[in-house]
Amino acid sequence: MANPDGSGEVAVVGVTKRYGETVAVKDLSLTIPHGAYCCLLGPSGCGKTTILRMIAGHEMPSKGDIRIGGTSVLGLPQIKRGTAMMFQSYALFPHRSVLDNVAFALKMRGAGLSERHATARELLAKVQLEKFANRLPPQLSGGQQQRVALARALITNPRVLLLDEPLSALDEYLRLRMRGELRRVQKELGITFIHVTHTQLEAIAVADMVVVMANGHIEQAASARDIFVAPRNAYVTRFVGGQNVLCGVVEGVSDGTAVLTSRQGARLAFPIDGRQPARGAELYGSIRRDRIAIEKLPAGSLPPNELNAIVGEVHTIENQGSYVKVTIDLGDEEEFVAHMVDDEFFRDPLDIGDRVVARWSASDVNLLDDGL
Ligand code: ATP
Repeated sequence: MANPDGSGEVAVVGVTKRYGETVAVKDLSLTIPHGAYCCLLGPSGCGKTTILRMIAGHEMPSKGDIRIGGTSVLGLPQIKRGTAMMFQSYALFPHRSVLDNVAFALKMRGAGLSERHATARELLAKVQLEKFANRLPPQLSGGQQQRVALARALITNPRVLLLDEPLSALDEYLRLRMRGELRRVQKELGITFIHVTHTQLEAIAVADMVVVMANGHIEQAASARDIFVAPRNAYVTRFVGGQNVLCGVVEGVSDGTAVLTSRQGARLAFPIDGRQPARGAELYGSIRRDRIAIEKLPAGSLPPNELNAIVGEVHTIENQGSYVKVTIDLGDEEEFVAHMVDDEFFRDPLDIGDRVVARWSASDVNLLDDGL
């Protein structure tokens, strides 16, 4: 095997990448621990692929350093970095057997036939395709071809595998299966995976660590669970989804709780976690969609005078199987989304146009950094 045994810790240190006038990555620093499954998540054009390409050595940073296993790799050619890339278009050779496709990179490195084939067979076993070694790629399903591409990328024994939108060419069913497969193989091999995606649930499903990016910088880098349950700011909350953003003006603070008034006149309570927001400051919080209880309001009744209760009109209802997604129109083009457990919803189903009150508990509110 060609690559060093060193650690697969990847550090991007103060990196900027310019393409003419475009600044694709701005003074970005990030450390991905050895053996982590990391997802770079963000909208199109935020710089995810550029970071991957700089780690691989396809691009050089305009400024800053890239270190793998604690050593700068900027002076190293791609082949000596200990990285391998798995591409979105899996570009297998259609007229070569699966075994030869997987063994290809070792051939390029001068390994003999028996070594190449033995190593390729080991990797095909890891992705559970040993029975297909003699087939041609067009004789495989899309998911099987993708597993061949994974085995092919792993053949040089990289310490870091870079995956650029690896699942985007697959249909929904295969995508869900393959993401579990990627995570299983990564855990089994224990090497660092850096996976670029713009799909929130894909990142949350596979990664140990999720890096949410916008415009060439990092908005939040944290565990997949924290990104979902404790997003740092309104951008991450909205981009990752699954939560509502709450906003209000601080009326007073006592016992670790701020009491606020929202634009719609609702009274909100946020836990303030040791911070000291000023009266009159605008604060933001997030509340998970599945932590909201909804009750129909009888016609003509007044909005309840209680904390953490918002009144609106049911705008859309979507049955998602195990839960029902209810969108509530709050007026002023603002929406609030609740996920109701299916049993609860169907006990007394709501209708579009129903006037409802949505309630939640203050302890479930996650305080956001915006406004602090
Ligand atoms: P996508 O999800 O669409 O692939 P991305 O987040 O991976 O997007 P990048 O491909 O890293 O984004 O691009 C970041 C920015 O840099 C974009 O504005 C893009 O147009 C620009 N860019 C990328 N490569 C080049 C290049 N070779 N020449 C000029 N501009 C480039």
